[in-house]
Amino acid sequence: MSRKKHRAPTAPKPGPTGAPDVTPDWTKPCEVCGAKPVLRDLGMCGPCTFGESGTAGGNW
Ligand SMILES: [Zn+2]
Repeated sequence: MSRKKHRAPTAPKPGPTGAPDVTPDWTKPCEVCGAKPVLRDLGMCGPCTFGESGTAGGNW
């Protein structure tokens, strides 16, 4: 008599093409604030890209 909701995980799929490479890149500083790492294809750090301070330090 138990009803469980089945929730399918909705993980974002990396597209084969056109998707930016968001691998943390520690070799260059953020174009905006100079923090590292940056999203490889965007040149900006997590907080500057996402607007979330929790993404600092490659935590995205
Ligand atoms: Zn930044």
